[in-house]
Amino acid sequence: MNCPVCHAEMNPFIEKFFGMKYLDKCDYVRCENCGLVVAKTLYEMNHNDWENLNRECHAAYQNTDALDVDPKWLERLHAQANILAELVKVGVLNENTRAVDYGAGDGKLSNYFAEKISAPTLMKFDAYMSRPDENYLPPESLTPASFDFVITCSVFEHLIGADDFAKIFALLKDDGIAALHTLVCEEVPRDSNWFYLQPVHATFWTNAAMQKIFDQYRFKACAYHVESRLWFMFRDTDKFSLLKKCSGTWSFSNDFVDYWKAKPYR
Ligand SMILES: [Zn+2]
Repeated sequence: MNCPVCHAEMNPFIEKFFGMKYLDKCDYVRCENCGLVVAKTLYEMNHNDWENLNRECHAAYQNTDALDVDPKWLERLHAQANILAELVKVGVLNENTRAVDYGAGDGKLSNYFAEKISAPTLMKFDAYMSRPDENYLPPESLTPASFDFVITCSVFEHLIGADDFAKIFALLKDDGIAALHTLVCEEVPRDSNWFYLQPVHATFWTNAAMQKIFDQYRFKACAYHVESRLWFMFRDTDKFSLLKKCSGTWSFSNDFVDYWKAKPYR
C-alpha cells in the first residue's frame, strides 16, 4: 500500500494483538519517505466493521473515567479554550468568524470557550453524536470553503486516508486558519506496547508527514502553543503576526513546527 500523505511505498512495521471482536491482530505499516505509520488492518476494514469496532471501544471505555486514560485532558481543554479566547482579544478571530470544532465529541471545548467569550460561537460537529444542542452543525452545513477557523482535537489519529484529511481542510476559506491537537512525533516508536497504539487509532503522524500536509494545503506559517498542545496553521501571514501578542510559550515557523523531536513524545 502507498502512503496516504506522500504516496511513497509503505512497509510492514509492527503488529499488535488486541483480541477484540472486531479487531484481533492489527498490522501497522510505515512510509519509507515521510515516516507516517498507519494501521493497515483498519484502513482495509469495511465500513460496518469500523463502526462496530468504534462502538465496541466506546462500550469498553465508557465506564472508565476519561481522566484515567488521559489525566491532562480537562486541563488541556481549559488551556485550549483560554488560548482561543486570546485569539479573539488580539483580533485573529472576531465576532464574525465562522468557526467549527470538527469532531467535537460532547462539545466541552466550545462550551468552555463560550464561558469566556460571547462571540463568535465555536460551532460543533461530530459525525458520531446525535447533536444534543443547537450549536451542533448538521453534515449539510459543512460546506467546503465556508469556515474561517477549523479546530480538531484528538481527531487526526482517527482519520483513515487522504479523503478524510482533505475533507477537513476543504472546509477552510482561502485565508482560513486550521488548529489541531494530536500526537506528532519525529519517529513513530517501533514498539507494540507504545501507549498510543489504541484500537481506533489509525494514523500516526510524524513531523515530516505534517510538513507535507502543511505544504499540500498551502499553509504559509505555523505556530505551536505549548500549554494547549495546539498547532495553528495560517495562510494569512498578517493575521499570523497577531499571535505574537498572545501569552504562553510559543514556537513559530514558516514551516510546520516540529516541536516534539525526542521521546517521550508529550
Ligand atoms: Zn509518506
